[in-house]
Amino acid sequence: MKFGGTSVTDAEAIRIVAEIVKSSIRSHPVVVVSAIAGFTNSLIASVDKAVAGDARTASKSLEAEFERHLAIAGELLKGERRAAYVSVAADARAKIRQLHKIIAAHPVTSPPLQDEIVAYGEHLSSQLVTAVLCEQGIPALHVDARRCIKTDDNYGNATPQPETAAAVRAEARFIIDSKKVPVLGGFIGSTARGVTTTLGRGGSDYTAAIVGAALDAREIQIWTDVSGVLTADPRLVANARTIPILSYHEAAELAYFGAKVLHPKTIQPAIDQSIPVRVCNSRAPRDAGTLIVAESESTPQTIKAIAHKNGVTTVQVTSARMLGAYGFLRALFEVFDRHKTAVDVVTTSEVSVSLSIDDARTMPDLIPDLEQLGTVEVEENRTIISVVGEGLRNTPGIAARVFSVISDINVSMISVGASSVNLTFMVDEEHAAEAITRLHRVCFEDSAVTEKRARVTA
Ligand code: ADP
Ligand code: ASP
Ligand code: MG
Repeated sequence: MKFGGTSVTDAEAIRIVAEIVKSSIRSHPVVVVSAIAGFTNSLIASVDKAVAGDARTASKSLEAEFERHLAIAGELLKGERRAAYVSVAADARAKIRQLHKIIAAHPVTSPPLQDEIVAYGEHLSSQLVTAVLCEQGIPALHVDARRCIKTDDNYGNATPQPETAAAVRAEARFIIDSKKVPVLGGFIGSTARGVTTTLGRGGSDYTAAIVGAALDAREIQIWTDVSGVLTADPRLVANARTIPILSYHEAAELAYFGAKVLHPKTIQPAIDQSIPVRVCNSRAPRDAGTLIVAESESTPQTIKAIAHKNGVTTVQVTSARMLGAYGFLRALFEVFDRHKTAVDVVTTSEVSVSLSIDDARTMPDLIPDLEQLGTVEVEENRTIISVVGEGLRNTPGIAARVFSVISDINVSMISVGASSVNLTFMVDEEHAAEAITRLHRVCFEDSAVTEKRARVTA
């Protein structure tokens, strides 16, 4: 059971977490928690301040966050448990202060030290949740995730290594067998040498999936602040609604293309062990949420959801040398490989290749190398829109339906068929909201109105 930042953001939220865990106690849950909402952002911002040379301001900027933790402890813990937590928080505060000073003096050391600092988010929330569960009569035991999530040393975006599964079992099995609830922080791990790492923003979902797979859990539950995976991002589409069942394939595509509710790496460990993933709302625990399983039916409307990702950069490389030549694409991708830059969507024609990049930080170094291959055109502030559904596999006319809805909006890099369950294209960021709301209306809302009318008439 993984609880996200908003699910542990204050005393009331954590009290609800304890109730949810209690109601599942017979299923021998393992609990994974994120840092309390907003804390990871504050910790990262504090590192930036330290890198800029101001350790004092960096440490001061976290005072309010520590107060939030202590306020929760004050409300939900008593006596020795409260005192123990106050001392855990004081210790964290002192260590972070020291680390800020080291970073301010030697800014180049920052990537591993940033992870060391950022990990305190999950460290403090997991200790707090463990204490509250105990206070509420649930026998919980804290497990330091860094002892079992073993990763490479790619700080900030580390990859768990194969030995993780056995380490998770070694830490958690005994606790579960003794009828206790292991509680661990998501998102954090450590290298073989024991140096702290993090798995990338939103990575607690991934931790939950890794832990669930290692323990061959009956289900991996992602508890968040919305009732499941919705037909579109609810921050953009007010009428977005819960999708009851998704296939692994559909959920993975939605996560890759921006549905923040699931970290993109969450689905693979579930697929490996055929474990269902359930996305539930900790603010409305009785809502059904979304169940993600191996296969789902294609819905009558065919399209299940629309995902989008803003802030994308597209690069087009054009060269007549490509015509009838071989080895060009290899040379092109080698450039991206050399600069460790991930490419999302690719479309090609006879003489040009377009690629989309999520993280464009390496562009200044990358472009001169690409220019060796051809003319390079770069466009920033683009949005990838991805329409997903198993029904796309074999329903004719979907593309025509989608593009007729947004026929007045300039669309590029259309990709269909690469994955059998999605249709992906690019628009300028300024037109994204309009395109998505219109698509949502036509794909989901109009048909809902028609269905309702039909039922009323019947
Ligand atoms: P947590 O802190 O629980 O991990 P996140 O903020 O990472 O929560 O993810 C949940 C949020 O994802 C929702 O509040 C919603 O704004 C956003 N979101 C984006 N796309 C979708 C979608 N298709 N379905 C549900 N939520 C989505
Ligand atoms: N706390 C981390 C983040 O904000 C991990 C997570 O919430 O999943 O990115
Ligand atoms: Mg998240």
